[in-house]
Amino acid sequence: MQNIDLLIIGAGPIGLACGIKAESAGLTYLIVDKGTLVNSIYHYPYGMTFFSTSDKLEIGGVPFISHNPKPTRMEALEYYRRVTSSHQLKTSLYNAVKKVEKNDAGFKVNTEKFDLQAENIIVATGFYDLPHNLGIAGEDLPKVSHYYKEAHPYFDMKLAIVGAANSAVDAALECYRKRAKEVTMIIREEEIRKTVKYWVKPDIENRIKEGSIKAYFESEISSIRGNEIDIETPEGKVTIENDFVLAMTGYEPNYEFLSDMGVKKNQESPYAPIYDPKSMETNVEGIYLAGVICGGMETNKWFIENSRVHADMIIDDIKNKKMAFK
Ligand SMILES: Cc1cc2nc3c(=O)[nH]c(=O)nc-3n(C[C@H](O)[C@H](O)[C@H](O)COP(=O)(O)OP(=O)(O)OC[C@H]3O[C@@H](n4cnc5c(N)ncnc54)[C@H](O)[C@@H]3O)c2cc1C
Repeated sequence: MQNIDLLIIGAGPIGLACGIKAESAGLTYLIVDKGTLVNSIYHYPYGMTFFSTSDKLEIGGVPFISHNPKPTRMEALEYYRRVTSSHQLKTSLYNAVKKVEKNDAGFKVNTEKFDLQAENIIVATGFYDLPHNLGIAGEDLPKVSHYYKEAHPYFDMKLAIVGAANSAVDAALECYRKRAKEVTMIIREEEIRKTVKYWVKPDIENRIKEGSIKAYFESEISSIRGNEIDIETPEGKVTIENDFVLAMTGYEPNYEFLSDMGVKKNQESPYAPIYDPKSMETNVEGIYLAGVICGGMETNKWFIENSRVHADMIIDDIKNKKMAFK
């Protein structure tokens, strides 16, 4: 069985940043991912543009040059592939981590493809795998999705979009412009979220004002059927014809995965996992957290820009412990 200093779970941008730092510190490490490289970004909408400028998404000192200041998903995929190859990072892709068990030498890890022994673990699994469910009848119909890829399937269709944050707004505008027959937004709050990108917010507000996109504010979708949906509005229940539903209601970290490892979370919202903000080590000695997972349900607290630094903090802590042990 392979024996390493560090197992990094998740080959997202922050897992990769941890790998680069581990490599330069002379640690033996492996980055495993249940999907492809930067699997979350791979699953973002095809035409997505980052809100960050490309320099803020750089890792390992490799320059990220994009056509425009804010890079596209395609450019980010190319960039992270290039970083991984140029640093010759050790990865094992399409290999989910199933179980992490503490033992005297660190942790015994069971992955889909093999078992290994690791002295330390970094959990950099993000939040994009588990959508918030609506919890209503009809949610499991094939016409309902929690992930938006592109507008084409909704051409000439009646589309309902649940949510009022960036993902919902981007999908609504794109589908309206690519000629969906009807775009209806169902929004729990009384207005579009304040966190919507400042250059997009006036666009969606004006489309709603002029009636090109219909919006029900302070409303909730309550039932989904084959060709219609029910919406609870302040004026009572409304039923509208519908072909597709995009439930852009956000995502959450895999708490079960964390708790199986013994990592605790705060009991109050945003239920952030417990970690030392100086070292990023959790309540389980030798298990660290990195990247957007650190925010718990507050999924807009950490992004690539401000969590790249976790890699330095963690590897420094592991190195210091090793030195103290010698
Ligand atoms: C639409 C959208 C736009 C965004 N735009 C920006 C932006 O402009 N700027 C910015 O800084 N941030 C942005 N973010 C936030 C940020 O890009 C992502 O959240 C970023 O990918 C987080 O990096 P990460 O490495 O922490 O996690 P992720 O990139 O989510 O990586 C986690 C990885 O862990 C893997 N994984 C999960 N469970 C397991 C398991 N059991 N075993 C093995 N592997 C596992 C996943 O497959 C995934 O590859 C955006 C997010 C979204 C959703």
